[in-house]
Amino acid sequence: MADILAGVKCTVQNCKYWNSGYKCSAPSIEVNVDGGGTSASRSPETNCKTFVPR
Ligand code: SF4
Repeated sequence: MADILAGVKCTVQNCKYWNSGYKCSAPSIEVNVDGGGTSASRSPETNCKTFVPR
């Protein structure tokens, strides 16, 4: 099993880095603001740029 990125809970189950238990096995992740920029108001306005579909 791939190394798990500690402290990250992810619900995107069709990502190639996703593992059961809502765990991420990417070496690191990048999280951005939806639509660009550097400021978000609410969590739904952010997303994981490291996502790769299975
Ligand atoms: S890379 Fe991002 S989307 Fe994929 S499992 Fe990790 S946290 Fe989730």
